[in-house]
Amino acid sequence: MPLFEFECNNCKHRFEELVTSSSKRVEKCPECEDTGIRKLVSAGSIKPNGSASSLGSYQAPSCSSGGG
Ligand SMILES: [Zn+2]
Repeated sequence: MPLFEFECNNCKHRFEELVTSSSKRVEKCPECEDTGIRKLVSAGSIKPNGSASSLGSYQAPSCSSGGG
């Protein structure tokens, strides 16, 4: 899949976007909606040497607010 990584120059937020064939184009940061983003080089063939043990860390969207 053509997954590209972008970084926002404003808030330094990194995000990945699935860019299909001229279907969708990343133009702004999903965090601050700033248009100053740049595409990072995709690190695909980089493998960490040694014991590779990455646990699946899922970030659950925290949605807690006072009052209810
Ligand atoms: Zn941003």
